[in-house]
Amino acid sequence: MAVIKTVQAGNPIIHTKSEDVTVFSSGETQRIITDLIDTMRAEDLVGMAAPQIGENVRIFVTEVRETEYRKEGTDKLRIFINPKILSVSEKLSSGYEGCGSVASAQFFGPVERPEEITVEAINESGESFTHTADSLLARVIQHEIDHLDGILFHEKITDMKKVMSKEEYVKTRGK
Ligand SMILES: [Zn+2]
Repeated sequence: MAVIKTVQAGNPIIHTKSEDVTVFSSGETQRIITDLIDTMRAEDLVGMAAPQIGENVRIFVTEVRETEYRKEGTDKLRIFINPKILSVSEKLSSGYEGCGSVASAQFFGPVERPEEITVEAINESGESFTHTADSLLARVIQHEIDHLDGILFHEKITDMKKVMSKEEYVKTRGK
């Protein structure tokens, strides 16, 4: 198990477009997946992409765990390698996002994204799969794919007047 210090905005690694993975079974790919899972859980995040642990490769993990504030829309651990968005819904939804790489997840702001997406990727065993997601998981997947393209969520905030600290965001959650 290895928890890696999360790379922060301003570090070139987090602003760089990442490369496709070519060897899925390599120890290096498996180590990155394990470190992503360990670090995501240690930092209490619902998704994490390889550039956030200093690796410019196209891998991310998601796990929408149940919390005091989140009872619905939870989702199991998923691993995405070389993800491609196949389709997105026309309907958009606005929701607050934070990020382990933006002020160490202490900064939240509203971002508009398609409500539903279908994504194709490769799993940790090297097998291709497609997955259709909506609501929070769709948002997390799009946020993580942006990381692989060197894009951070705060670049997409729709209203800077609605930005909140994590402390205030947690207080207003659900309203
Ligand atoms: Zn992020």
